[in-house]
Amino acid sequence: MSVRTRFAPSPTGFLHIGGARTALYNWLYARKNGGSFVLRVEDTDAERSTGESMEIILEGMKWLGLDWDEGPGKGGDFGPYNQSERVEIYDAYLKKLQDADLVYEDEGAIRFRVPDKTIVVNDTVCGEVAVNLKEQGSKRFDQETKQEVEANPDIVIRRPNGGYIFHFVNVVDDIEMGITHVIRGEDHLSNTPKHLALFEAFGATPPTFAHIPLNLNPNGSKMSKRDEGALIHEYREKGFLPEAVNNYMALLGWSAKDDQEIFTMEELTKRFDLSGVTKSNSKFDYAKCLWVNAEHIKQLSPGALAAGAAPFLDAAGIPSDDDRVPAALELARERVQIFEEIPKIIGTIFTEEVTYDPASVAKVSGRDDLPQVLEALATGLEKVEDWTAENIKPAIAAAAESIGAKMGALMLPCRIGVTGSTAGADLVPVLELLGKVEVVKRLKIFAEMQK
Ligand code: GLU
Repeated sequence: MSVRTRFAPSPTGFLHIGGARTALYNWLYARKNGGSFVLRVEDTDAERSTGESMEIILEGMKWLGLDWDEGPGKGGDFGPYNQSERVEIYDAYLKKLQDADLVYEDEGAIRFRVPDKTIVVNDTVCGEVAVNLKEQGSKRFDQETKQEVEANPDIVIRRPNGGYIFHFVNVVDDIEMGITHVIRGEDHLSNTPKHLALFEAFGATPPTFAHIPLNLNPNGSKMSKRDEGALIHEYREKGFLPEAVNNYMALLGWSAKDDQEIFTMEELTKRFDLSGVTKSNSKFDYAKCLWVNAEHIKQLSPGALAAGAAPFLDAAGIPSDDDRVPAALELARERVQIFEEIPKIIGTIFTEEVTYDPASVAKVSGRDDLPQVLEALATGLEKVEDWTAENIKPAIAAAAESIGAKMGALMLPCRIGVTGSTAGADLVPVLELLGKVEVVKRLKIFAEMQK
């Protein structure tokens, strides 16, 4: 039987990193096994589901490159793929339970009679979980009286207003859509015995279940949408690469069982397996996510680097058709973790007027030899005929010698005088890109400013 996985988001908010990771694992598993990846919209909660949220989720999936074979905008043999459009199917399944006397009405709601027997979940990641739903659900903790009280263990599957409940529609759709593997967050493990009871009531073979560990904050708390790195659209806005975000998400709860941490999507597809999914909860580490992205940026082709950086150059007013952009991007690629940082590194190359960072300027402005150093630099560099990095370096060395100083003593004033900051890309290639006239002009302006 060919593998069919699904991602089944409830469109009640943004695409969160936890949800996106679930989508990724399902996508990888389907792709690895030559199966199908289905996107199903669990929008039966009419009050909380919004079209806007769905758009954000679809956009996020598209940006990540997690393309679905069936689902919204794509169609497929098992649609519609929005649960809100599947009511007739649910009615027919309810009828099956009614005919088998497995449901009854209770104050307008419909309840499913849970069997009085041990149900065993054989989870691929978490192992065996055995539960008797009738016993387990017959008591509940009452928050008001702070006591255990009698409860009805039978599951509500339809609300008094006619709306179907998650457990029911989730199982019906997994049956109807022929889902073979359910890969989802561990928060759903406790729901799975209920789901298995429903599969059995419908006489259907349940899929293989794999509950993946929760993704928590470094301090062990649950991640909220306000936490850094929680929302997928923010990765896009900051200039992360989708393949790097996928790479990092893959590592949140899975390892290749060796030391490899940087993967292309092809490698991930080849190497991902449920046996590599860890049992313990994973801790989200934004710094590591940045590192993974930096590693991917280092490996980009020049064309892909230019394409990724383009929106950020535009936003910073750097003309992307400037001939010097490709070389400047090469200087930036080793220094940045995300594209958002690029203008800060190379912006000075393209500016008409240097912005001087006061803290950087303060590092040299007190030096007695500063006027002499700047003068020597301007004079020495002006003499360079063929303006290349190979010639600029010795010219700085010669300028230093001319005033009896070491070359190192000239580098910082040169950097600050020309670029306005102590930070940035390697100085000599930056000087090369700026051109002799501009470099000498900037050194003279800075010398004037320091008088
Ligand atoms: N709509 C459910 C959720 O977003 C899906 C659970 C499942 O994957 O079965 O948590």
